[in-house]
Amino acid sequence: MAGGLALLGLPTDRGSSFLRGAAGGPAAIRAALHGGSSNLFAENGVDLGAPGALTDAGDVRLDGTAGEIDAIDAAVDRLLGEGRRVIALGGDHAVTYPVVRAHARHHPGLAILHFDAHPDLYDSYGSDPYSHACPFARIMERGLASRLVQVGIRADTAELRAQARRFGVETVGMDRLGELPGLLPDGPVYVSIDLDALDPAYAPGVSHHEPGGLATRDVLRAIQALRGPVIGGDVVELNPARDLNGATAMVAAKFVRELGGAMLAA
Ligand code: MN
Ligand code: MN
Repeated sequence: MAGGLALLGLPTDRGSSFLRGAAGGPAAIRAALHGGSSNLFAENGVDLGAPGALTDAGDVRLDGTAGEIDAIDAAVDRLLGEGRRVIALGGDHAVTYPVVRAHARHHPGLAILHFDAHPDLYDSYGSDPYSHACPFARIMERGLASRLVQVGIRADTAELRAQARRFGVETVGMDRLGELPGLLPDGPVYVSIDLDALDPAYAPGVSHHEPGGLATRDVLRAIQALRGPVIGGDVVELNPARDLNGATAMVAAKFVRELGGAMLAA
């Protein structure tokens, strides 16, 4: 229905540089979301289980080639053209470039709030400019976002810091979390959540364990503090093969609910 939210599964780990497994993310997130141990209410009172609030647009059929980029863009573009808003389920973080590319067509000037241990700003990684280590370089060099605020960063390199300066990225490292409230975008915002932003204690089911990270509540608090319209988002990098008792899948499902609640809030 027009105005409702669409879940869109992007089952790929084509862009993963270290371990495969993120292709299993969408199925595991759906299972956690509908598993019956919780409900579909966001903490702000929005009921994603209400008729027409949240529908499942299924998975994009992906073939493990670079053609996935255009296939993802086209699928998101179609849903946005129908007046729906999209929460994309990764998949690895490479999916965010085409998802944002489609959103930028419908929401020029959008800002991005990005949670991650890693800036994902490499010009190229392992000879692949569409690696999961590169999506925000592709986004920024094409001018698809007015601002990029990265939160939870703690695996920076000299090259990545130079890229961040080049693109004017606002980096909120773990040592600067207190500054985040003043840096939250107040216009239309797209929210990208790489689950490895969280400390591995909260989210062991990811390919890259980077200790010293965010708490689940840090991410929720930031989402709930957004004042501008949340026009789309993604939850990426769940690797079910690394998860413990589905705990990380439940965190991912929680983020889907809270993102959805923020997107449907007046
Ligand atoms: Mn990432
Ligand atoms: Mn990451």
